[in-house]
Amino acid sequence: SEFTSIDLNQLLHDTETLLEHQFKTAQIHVETHFDPALAFIKGNQGKLQQVILNLMLNAKDAMHGKPNATLKIATESGPGFVFVIIQDSGNGIEKEHLNRIYDPFFTTKATPQEGQRKGTGLGLAVTYGIMQEHAGKIQVESEVGAGTTFRLEFPSATTLT
Ligand code: ADP
Ligand code: MG
Repeated sequence: SEFTSIDLNQLLHDTETLLEHQFKTAQIHVETHFDPALAFIKGNQGKLQQVILNLMLNAKDAMHGKPNATLKIATESGPGFVFVIIQDSGNGIEKEHLNRIYDPFFTTKATPQEGQRKGTGLGLAVTYGIMQEHAGKIQVESEVGAGTTFRLEFPSATTLT
């Protein structure tokens, strides 16, 4: 697959814009905090957008019907790394599900509520594969009833040879 220089701030902004109407309709408040000094990464634009879309749409599903639904989108720089943080105030992930969310076809959305998409359980499996292709990492922290934070780590373009 084609790798080019990617500005993750721009890609996150563009993807958020794509979903802006959906978030508004779902009464989700979006907060962004982009590190202005974020390094570029090397990556496949289309696949990275798929990762971001997956995480944002999962966040939306998780906040369905919750008051004060807030989606936080942030970037951070580390030494040789860039981080993307996608945090929701949704229903959270049960402890016993945490190690299964990356399994293909694992879904808790087999019978979706009104306003939710029916789950395939493929989003995070595909996301995990794409992160591996980018020499990246994906981490999750979640508290039932409080929300979920996904953290992506990529090597910055300058550290790749
Ligand atoms: P799908 O969205 O089709 O169900 P995914 O692979 O994207 O499949 O996610 C798998 C499961 O992980 C979801 O069904 C849900 O139970 C859980 N999950 C993923 N993201 C979140 C989130 N932000 N909040 C709560 N649960 C989540
Ligand atoms: Mg999904």
